[in-house]
Amino acid sequence: MKAIVFYKHGDSDVLEYSQLPTPEPGPGEALVRLKAAALNGVDIWVRKGWPGLKLEYPHIPGADGAGEVAALGDGVNGWAIGDRVVINSNLSCGKCEYCLGGYDNRCVDWDLLGETRRGTYAEYVVVPASNLHPLPEDFNEHLAAAGALVYHTAWHSLITCGNLRPGESVLVVGASGGVNTASIDIAKMAGTTVFVVGANQDKLAVAKSLGADHLIDRSKDENWAKAVYKMTAKRGVDVVVDNVGTTFSASFRAARKGGRILTVGNTGGPKFEFDNRYIFGKHLSLIGSTMGTHNDFAKVMGLIFSGKLKPVLDRTYPLSDARTAQERMERGDQLGKITLAIG
Ligand SMILES: [Zn+2]
Repeated sequence: MKAIVFYKHGDSDVLEYSQLPTPEPGPGEALVRLKAAALNGVDIWVRKGWPGLKLEYPHIPGADGAGEVAALGDGVNGWAIGDRVVINSNLSCGKCEYCLGGYDNRCVDWDLLGETRRGTYAEYVVVPASNLHPLPEDFNEHLAAAGALVYHTAWHSLITCGNLRPGESVLVVGASGGVNTASIDIAKMAGTTVFVVGANQDKLAVAKSLGADHLIDRSKDENWAKAVYKMTAKRGVDVVVDNVGTTFSASFRAARKGGRILTVGNTGGPKFEFDNRYIFGKHLSLIGSTMGTHNDFAKVMGLIFSGKLKPVLDRTYPLSDARTAQERMERGDQLGKITLAIG
């Protein structure tokens, strides 16, 4: 099969378009012939590597993918060759206390497809059959792949953990990243008023297309926490979605007393300082999570398939051009999700 691989960590030039043996599904697994893969920030982090990350080379990046079942391992029921599927990239053991409690994204043996296991930048991928989700006949594979990881993550954060309620106000820090656009879309569907801080007008246009109510251009208004405070008559917002991290201090100022700060990542870097007096003085809750559960995946994909949630597509590249695609994402030029066309 054709695949994008790398043999060592580094910049985008470590990615090679290569030929590998097609993998075979083991017991309980399925082989998926991919039609589309979507890029995520984690693909870059894995390519660059971090202390303690051990990969089996050649490594294939990619968490998101959609296509059809090409082969089934022993003991797999409920699926047939040719079934159209989208992949849930969260790999869990199904047996530990968290999995049994319905919190499989807290699994003691949790892993992400494309992180330590070969991913979706390839013609074929092997996944546990329990990670397959049916893709409706007329639904586009690119849209499904583009929605999967980011909507799954945003749904778990905003709805399952954040308990977002109709009539609330939400500030999303960032206008065009995958999880942020998904958060805006979900927050609007949930009946909330949405404020968005974006780097420039192009990025804010994406937020506006998703129905964001109040747009703040930080290239013109650097003190966006103050802007939000003024726009809410000095109350602040109920919920802040902050996946930048280094912006926490401003997010704390923009939140109302008793507000919730939701975070699933730190695009600004992992370590930073903040003033703890905001946390107790304003009765704030800081709610972290990563990815989502099987239950969240089924719910959010159902809403995407029915058109209630609409992933934003940026550009599609052929699989062979994955390096160019990653470079676009690394520069932060994308307005929505970048996908790869396969086969
Ligand atoms: Zn588990």
